[in-house]
Amino acid sequence: MNESRVIAYIGLGSNLQGPQEQIDRALQELTELPESQTVAHSSLYRSRPVGPQDQPDFINAVAMLETDLQAERLLDELLGLEDRHQRVRDGRLWGPRTLDLDLLLLGERRIVTERLQVPHPQMTVRAFVLVPLAEIAPADLLIPGAGKLSELLKEVDRSGLTLA
Ligand code: ATP
Ligand code: CA
Ligand code: CA
Repeated sequence: MNESRVIAYIGLGSNLQGPQEQIDRALQELTELPESQTVAHSSLYRSRPVGPQDQPDFINAVAMLETDLQAERLLDELLGLEDRHQRVRDGRLWGPRTLDLDLLLLGERRIVTERLQVPHPQMTVRAFVLVPLAEIAPADLLIPGAGKLSELLKEVDRSGLTLA
C-alpha cells in the first residue's frame, strides 16, 4: 500500500423505499468510488430503529474499502451517494431515510473537524454496526479511543438485530 492508502469501513443503513434494494445498490455504488476498491462487505441485517420508534426497521451492512481519498473527500462522496438515493433531510434526529452512509473508521486515524468525526462516535454502542463489522474485519481490529472490537462485542446489546 502507498502512504495515503488506508482501510475505510463504511456503515450502511436504510429504512425507506425498498431498504434491501437501496443497500444492494449502495454496495455496488461503493465499488465505483474514485481512488478506492471495495474489499468486502458484510451480510445484510435487520435492526429496530435507534431513537424515534414510529418508523420502519432498518436494513444495515458494513463495507470495507481500500482508499486513497482524503477523509473529507470520502465523506463528500458518501453524502453524494445519499443524494443519489433521494435522501431527504427533514431535520429530525435519527429519522427515516432511504440511505445513510457513515464513515466508521479510517485506518487507526482519529479525526475531529466540523463535518467529520472518526471513529464514528456512536459505533461502539451499536450492534447493527459492530456485528456486521466483525464479519469482515480482522479479529483484533482496534477502534481508536475505544479498544478492541472483540471486547466491545461482548458488551453490546444485540436485541432487535437479526440477519435480513
Ligand atoms: P449518526 O451520526 O448518529 O448515525 P445520522 O447518521 O442520522 O446520525 P446524519 O444526519 O446522516 O446523521 O449526518 C449528519 C452529519 O454528520 C453529516 O452531514 C456529516 O457532516 C456529519 N458526520 C460527522 N462524522 C461523520 C461520520 N463519521 N460519518 C458520516 N457523517 C459524519
Ligand atoms: Ca448514521
Ligand atoms: Ca449519517
